[in-house]
This record gives sequence, structure tokens and C-alpha cells, in this order.
Amino acid sequence: MTIRIGVIGTGAIGEDHARRITHVLSGGHIVAVTDVNRSQAEAVVARLGLDARVYDDGHELIKAADVDALLVTSWGPTHEEFVLAAIKAGKYVFCEKPLATTAQGCLNIVNAEVAAGQRLVQIGFMRPYDRGYQLLKQAIDDNQIGEPLMVHCAHRNPTVPESYITSMAIVDTAIHELDVLRWLLNDDYKTVQVVYPRRTRNRFEHLADPQVVLIETHKGVRIDLEIFVNCQYGYDIQCSVVGETGIINLPEPQSLLVRSDARLSTAILTDWKQRFIDAYDIELQNFINGIAQGRIEGPTAWDGYAAAVAADACVKAQESGQIEAVVMAERPAFYNQ
Ligand code: NAP
Repeated sequence: MTIRIGVIGTGAIGEDHARRITHVLSGGHIVAVTDVNRSQAEAVVARLGLDARVYDDGHELIKAADVDALLVTSWGPTHEEFVLAAIKAGKYVFCEKPLATTAQGCLNIVNAEVAAGQRLVQIGFMRPYDRGYQLLKQAIDDNQIGEPLMVHCAHRNPTVPESYITSMAIVDTAIHELDVLRWLLNDDYKTVQVVYPRRTRNRFEHLADPQVVLIETHKGVRIDLEIFVNCQYGYDIQCSVVGETGIINLPEPQSLLVRSDARLSTAILTDWKQRFIDAYDIELQNFINGIAQGRIEGPTAWDGYAAAVAADACVKAQESGQIEAVVMAERPAFYNQ
């Protein structure tokens, strides 16, 4: 069975996902694409050698009879309308983060999916598919370090463009930790605070960089998350969980260890696409396999909502300088299945 997939938004990640579905994964076929900039969609079709129709509009593509499932990889503010339209059409949809740009928007999607009575939405949080995070989770679930007490994290990018503003440190960058740490600890967030260290000189003037997000979970775990998006040296993701009887660290990506010129060295990645390349492959293969079996299992619309609520609280904390509460709606039983 081949799943016929339509892609809405053929920018950086839309093209990359279309590439992996076409040239790396199995069971999926890109049959339709659209982008607000039609020539961009046409260029992707040509570059990847796709056998796909180019649509003028995402809604037209969603309705197409020969499209079984959607990838929503357009600009964040368009996600909610396309995901709601996909649910209305009864089609499976993989939506890149953010699920919607507001917590209410995410809740609208949650409510629509619950009303549809079937899981149709998978959100593109790929870190739970990363082998390193899976090892951390296994160790926690197997009680190898006792109960987790503290987590130290860092999310570092070499540089960011001038269009990157202070709130994006939360909604674009920290959002991945806000998702994966709930999953890792099997816990939800109670409060958040954002504090600002001395600013780096290697930043655009309008941007506060670095930032430290301090989080308290309902079980009382304390998390400190450093966001440093002009660190210069590489794309570096760190996570260390301190438990009652031990400490576990996220493994470094596999890399050649070089002994040369009186030095022992190993490269640090600089491109986020490379750091989680396997996880992106696995999350999408999982989506395709799930559709073929009539049951998708990846990160849910509820996970998208939970991350959005935490992100909203962090942005509020950036502005207020205060400790802010993370207040979520009641989780529908639908998501306990
Ligand atoms: P991008 O390169 O700007 O691509 C977005 C594309 O969507 C652009 O080609 C844009 O066209 C198009 N678009 C905007 N509105 C549209 C509409 N109404 N209909 C169809 N196409 C539309 O951005 P990106 O880096 O690929 O990011 C896309 C999404 O993926 C974002 O939400 C981002 O947060 C997410 N993302 C996730 C990860 C991850 O690690 N999971 C990584 C990267 C990105 P124009 O350029 O002409 O506006």
C-alpha cells in the first residue's frame, strides 16, 4: 500500500521532508505540492524529480481525491487552518511545529480531532525519535538513576539571522526542549522563569542572547535550559538528567575521533538538519507506517498544545521577569489511548 501525500509549503523543511519520503523512506509517494510562491513549489518538483501536481492553494490540495495524507510545512501562522481543513476532510496530517501559533489555536485542533473520534494529527516533534533521547528515557523508565531531580540542558546555534527576535528563543528554539522534556520525565510543567545573563557581543542589537529558562515540573523536578543562538562554534544540544542515584547525559552525535598534529579532536556539527537527520527519517516513516495500519502513534495534537501553553508562559516570563504559572486545560481521555 502506497500512501499518497500532499505537501503544503515547500520551503526548507518541506523540501527536505519531500526528499526523504521520495528518496530515503518507503511506503509514501508525493503526489501534490503547493507553496504560496508557486515557482518555489515547481522548483522543488524539478529538483527532487517528483511526479507531483502543483496546486495554487493548500485547501484545494487537501480536497484532492488522490491525496491520502498531508504534510503541513508552511509558515507557522498558516498551520491551524490547514490542519483543521485536513481533519474536516478526514485525512491524516503531519504538521511541523508549531501546531498553531497560540495555545487556543492548538486547542481548536485538539477539539476538532476529538470530535472526529480518530487520531489524524501527528506533530513534527522529532526528538522523541532520536536514539540518544530514547536511551535517556529508557534509563529513567528502568529506574537506573532513581527519581529524576534536576535536568541541565543547552540548545546552542552558531548564529541566527537578523529577523530572529527575542521571543523566538522560546517559540522556535526552546520549543523542542519544552516538548521532549515532558515526554522524557513523564511530567508536566508548573512554573517557568526566564533570566538573562550578560549578553554576547556576537548578536544583533535587538536580541537578548543568551537566555536561561528555569522550569519547575509538577513532580518538583527543576530544569535549567540555556538558549544561546550565537554561540559561534556549532549546533550543540546538551541534556543531563540528575537522579537520586546517578546522572545520565545525552550522547554526542557519532563523529570521527582524530589523532593528528599533537591533538585529539572530534568535529562539532553546525547544521541542525544533520543533528537530527535520523530522527526526522524515523518520525516520518512512523507516520507513513501508522497510516498504512490505520493508527498513527507519534506526538499528538495534545503534545502540540502542551508545548504551546508552556511557550506562552515562557514568553510572558521573558517580558515580566517573574515566575509564571503554566496552566493547561484538562487533558481529554481521548489522548490516553
Ligand atoms: P521556510 O523555508 O520559510 O518555508 C515555509 C514555506 O511555506 C515557504 O516556502 C513559504 O513561502 C510557504 N508558505 C507560507 N505560507 C503558505 C501558504 N499559505 N500556503 C503554502 N505555502 C506557504 O520555513 P521552514 O524552515 O521550512 O519552516 C516551515 C515550518 O517548519 C515552520 O513552522 C518551522 O517552525 C518548522 N520547522 C521545524 C523544524 C523541526 O526541527 N521540526 C525545523 C525547521 C522548521 P514564502 O517563503 O514565499 O513565504
